[in-house]
Amino acid sequence: MKASSSITTPSASCRSLYIHVPFCRHRCGYCNFSVVAGRDDLIDRFLDAITLELQSVRSSTDRPPELETVFIGGGTPTHLDHDRLARLLQAVRDRFDFVADAEWSVEANPEDITTDKLRLLRDLGINRVSLGVQSFNDQKLSTLERSHDGQHVRQIIRDVAEVIENVSIDLIFAAPGETLDNWREDLRLATSLPIKHVSTYALTFEKGTAFWSRRSKGDLHDSPEELELQMYDVAREHFAARGFEHYEISNFGKPGFRCRHNLAYWHGAGWYAAGPGAAAFVDGYRNVNHRSTTSYLKRLEAGQSPIAESEFVSAEQSAREAAAFGVRMIDGVDLQAVSERYGVDLLALCETELRQMLEQGLITRQADRICLTERGIHFADSVAGELLG
Ligand code: SF4
Repeated sequence: MKASSSITTPSASCRSLYIHVPFCRHRCGYCNFSVVAGRDDLIDRFLDAITLELQSVRSSTDRPPELETVFIGGGTPTHLDHDRLARLLQAVRDRFDFVADAEWSVEANPEDITTDKLRLLRDLGINRVSLGVQSFNDQKLSTLERSHDGQHVRQIIRDVAEVIENVSIDLIFAAPGETLDNWREDLRLATSLPIKHVSTYALTFEKGTAFWSRRSKGDLHDSPEELELQMYDVAREHFAARGFEHYEISNFGKPGFRCRHNLAYWHGAGWYAAGPGAAAFVDGYRNVNHRSTTSYLKRLEAGQSPIAESEFVSAEQSAREAAAFGVRMIDGVDLQAVSERYGVDLLALCETELRQMLEQGLITRQADRICLTERGIHFADSVAGELLG
């Protein structure tokens, strides 16, 4: 990547921190995240290592920021027991300052939730819980290799909402063998529960996963593309009719409950990150840590940096990325504002692509703001790809 003299995301503008906790009790067949299963013996070493890394993240900035959002994801942060979870959260609290209304999200697996853990999360400042529900249908959960059952997870959602109001759930659609009626039932159950936000994704088969090899052997099959699109449209209609704002291609929130952390990514703000495989974007550099948990631990234990890859992202590329993420917002993206932020003329750079996408009916343009059309919403990845150049 070509280096540029302009600083594209000064650390002063970074107000978000992502922490990756790699532990899971089992690796789900479709998962390609940086995860270790059955290695709880590494948890204490991980806590020591991430404490060191957080310290170095803080010391790397001249003016330590007041964070607006913290997202503790994984993996499964709630796989940590009460004391270890407390230690992790305290390590973050001790090393950063926060605005008064900072958003603190934690990803949680339904089977890890206990009253004790919920109170701990609340008492240590967690004010948003993102539950990996995926479905309420036991057959679909079993296909996805998730160990909770639909009945139990409904009760867990109610329990969480009583302690921490802001509950988000993840739902997967287009799982092998899933019908449109199955999906409608998942949607019906979701909105019968006290949730504020939903992220929903079609199942993807990623290279290197167990699902990928099972599909190669003919043991699992993709859903037909037409069914996948129908499921997506059914979800959009369902959530819209129940007061959820569709604000990003895959995300729906009740008014006032959009995920502020993800908005920071999508609006092109910088962010800090710590943990195996975590990617930070600060001062124009994208730094990605070692994906392997053991390599990550060994590096920090040896007093070395956990960063495996570092690249300077030029102002032009940063602007293109901001536009590509921004166009996934249902309200669209103001290309002139992005251009001004990065000091490049994005409208001129993307003139041909913008004209073609307008002709193809994928986007609309009002002054300098572009938005996906109804058709474009189905092709959001292609539109984003065009803007990336
Ligand atoms: S629980 Fe989530 S992070 Fe862990 S293996 Fe399953 S999909 Fe991956």
